[in-house]
Amino acid sequence: MRAQILPITPEETFITQWREPFFIVCIINSNIMDALPIFLKLKHARALVVGGGDIAERKIDLLIRSGADVTVVSPSLGSQVHALFIAEKIQWIEDCFKPELLTDISIVIAATNNREVNAEVSKTATQKRIPVNVVDQPDLCTFTVPSIVDRSPVIICIGTGGASPVLARMLKARLETLIPAAYGQLACLARDYRDRVKTALGKIDSRRGFWEEVFQGRVAELIFSGKNYSAQLELERMIESTNDHNFERGEVYLVGAGPGDPDLLTFRALRLMQRADVVLYDRLVAPAIVDLVRRDAERMYVGKEKSNHVVSQGDINKLLLNLAKEGKRVLRLKGGDPFIFGRGGEEIEGLVDENIPFQVIPGVTAATGCASYAGIPLTHRDHAQSCLFVTGHLKDGSVDLNWEALCQPGQTVVIYMGLTGLASICSQLIAHGMISTTPVALIQQGTTINQKVIIATLESLVDTVNRNDVTPPTLLIVGSVVQLHDQLAWFNPEAASEQGNVLAEPGRGKNDGI
Ligand code: SAH
Repeated sequence: MRAQILPITPEETFITQWREPFFIVCIINSNIMDALPIFLKLKHARALVVGGGDIAERKIDLLIRSGADVTVVSPSLGSQVHALFIAEKIQWIEDCFKPELLTDISIVIAATNNREVNAEVSKTATQKRIPVNVVDQPDLCTFTVPSIVDRSPVIICIGTGGASPVLARMLKARLETLIPAAYGQLACLARDYRDRVKTALGKIDSRRGFWEEVFQGRVAELIFSGKNYSAQLELERMIESTNDHNFERGEVYLVGAGPGDPDLLTFRALRLMQRADVVLYDRLVAPAIVDLVRRDAERMYVGKEKSNHVVSQGDINKLLLNLAKEGKRVLRLKGGDPFIFGRGGEEIEGLVDENIPFQVIPGVTAATGCASYAGIPLTHRDHAQSCLFVTGHLKDGSVDLNWEALCQPGQTVVIYMGLTGLASICSQLIAHGMISTTPVALIQQGTTINQKVIIATLESLVDTVNRNDVTPPTLLIVGSVVQLHDQLAWFNPEAASEQGNVLAEPGRGKNDGI
């Protein structure tokens, strides 16, 4: 096995991240890692395994696969380990462990069922600064052995720091089914042509673009279907016909990040988040989602400037254009769906004029996300046959809606940005004929661990909100479907105040955001 060490962030947990051509998955539960994941080169290094039974066998197998010279010390050997000895895959010292055996040893594993022996091995090795692993006794280990998905030279390690080997194995099983076996061959091909591509393409960004085309295009498809030679020919053809100019034009991805829960991202959103060179995001995008963007991508927060003013829409539009003109792949990450109260249209108009390629990726909009997570169907045969999405906030700060249309029977009204004008919205709806006892739901920070659903009626909502501590963003759902919340509410996150506000940027006030 060959390997490369790569730093990862805790939020990369569960995401299979390409770090061309290797990738790594780790489970880490805090910002401080319990251990540093590294790959140890053991070719021809001397490894000592104490114990020769079944427990030892799996570790011995791993060490052999890593190219180590393995010596087993044990008064007796189990049948499988014995077979390895007969096949001259290991050496055997037919004895009990003695501290002198740890001379000129690079790594030691204690795998006996005798706790005293294990403790002695651990103590001696630690004194001599030799990495030691004691099977099933994490306290005695200076390293642990992760679960491994082997697509050499791609190796994926899953570690739980001894917290739950079963969970690690479950994740391993999932990854095994997700990652085609041929990824190893793809990586080998990339390794063999790396230098040639370096010569053909001088710029790092061009090379990254080139390899992404290789891994997501025809070359990969050919490898996956077993046509390795054709894949090689195709790669050579690509190298012959490429140059840095091919990669000079940037592009823009206008991506909907959904209402908060990272699980609601689309696959395409995630894929483009991995391609971006720079990301522009605003305050409605949860930090956990921004963390899923390619680690090396430059992050630009455009929700507020230091002075606490929103970066003007015009400036954002210009920024998108200029970055793309520099040849960058620009990710514009927006809360919810970019085309629903997101000014996404305005942001790409300038790109059309300048012929910059772009893609628009839909996201789960707050209305559907919050409604689902609050257990409120937006339409229902007994309650509502249509649904309106409206904004409760106009450019000049006033609320001016087509109240007659909103008050039609048999429909649900979803109001975005309705907190500031809440009193006016409720009184106008009543004034235009909506029954004052119509149920209303105010959903705060929907789909996140801070989700709170306040149920009231049109006439009581303002008082109820004043009595509660309401934190934006919030969404209003008006109509008889709200009654179903009692029965259908399924998402009841535990109060998460101590875990921090997962959506809000520091300093966000009690203003409903745009
Ligand atoms: N493009 C976004 C909407 C942007 S307007 C979308 O499709 O969802 C911003 C408003 O969306 C907020 O004022 C609030 O009314 C609503 N909103 C966005 N995320 C929300 C969330 N997680 N919970 C409640 N409301 C949310």
